[in-house]
Amino acid sequence: MRGIRMKEGDAEVASRGRGWLRMVGALSCYACFALPLHCAAAPQDAAQPLPVVQLEPGLYMHRGQDDVATRANGGDIANIGFIVGSRCVAVIDTGGTAAEGRALRAAIRTVTPLPVCYVINTHMHPDHIFGNVAFAADYPQFVGSATLAEAEASHEESYMRVLKRELGALADGSVIVPPTLTVSGSMTLDLGHRVLRLQTWKTAHTNNDLTVYDEASGTLIAGDLLFVQCIPVIDGSALGWLDDIAAIRAMNPRRIVPGHGPLDVPWQRALAAEQAYLARLVHDVRAALRQGQTMQQAVDTIGLDERGKWRLFDIYHRRNVTAAYAELEWEQ
Ligand SMILES: [Zn+2]
Repeated sequence: MRGIRMKEGDAEVASRGRGWLRMVGALSCYACFALPLHCAAAPQDAAQPLPVVQLEPGLYMHRGQDDVATRANGGDIANIGFIVGSRCVAVIDTGGTAAEGRALRAAIRTVTPLPVCYVINTHMHPDHIFGNVAFAADYPQFVGSATLAEAEASHEESYMRVLKRELGALADGSVIVPPTLTVSGSMTLDLGHRVLRLQTWKTAHTNNDLTVYDEASGTLIAGDLLFVQCIPVIDGSALGWLDDIAAIRAMNPRRIVPGHGPLDVPWQRALAAEQAYLARLVHDVRAALRQGQTMQQAVDTIGLDERGKWRLFDIYHRRNVTAAYAELEWEQ
């Protein structure tokens, strides 16, 4: 087991972040009439609890819908959850809106009165982070990869714009809450008789992927390093992802919880399917590049017979070919 490793400058980031949270918390006490943005941190007990299942003793997960964010699903499209120790609770991803975060918080309160001490984000994508603000008044450490804050900042404008466009008023109160505690390599968090091992990865789904290994149950919460039945989405590196898949297989955890798709399936088969899709993409894009095909030709031909294997294929597959082409053309 490796201990906490903090980079230089993390303490400063942490104190800055917590100052911001104190401000939000204080404002929520009296300023909601004037500043609706801050109301997400205000009375939270009214939220209906998000449905969760107890996958292992003390490990609860919510199954997101296999879809893109829409008004019908309210942005509830990622698997998110929490782990309960004897001292406190760690949340792992918070959902696509402040409202979903409040519902997750309400679900925690149906299980335990213990404080939320950590809110962990597995990566930058909106469906995993926009519920963070619902936990601001709990003053947790917000935990993420050392590369998360910059990735969030550089995407903030587009994430906010798309969220408001797709969800309208359902996005109200949703803001990005950056990490106050960052991980580069590995870090151990103890919830009281419950040790979590956090780990960052070679750029794969994104450049800020982080997993959580729950020692007590032998469960790896993989975030979007594992997609089950839903098509993997490359927003980082296909080659890096293939390396990470090999490393995850070598870890050989008892259980892996995916970021999207069914929570409780044999992970070996799911990881193999994801690996086969990415390997096929890399192989076919390299062949297209050798033949001098343009990106458009590659997008129009590669991997179309994978359609029957994956949900959301029509939305993400062409983007994946584009991403792989952009990555691999530099090999030539
Ligand atoms: Zn993602």
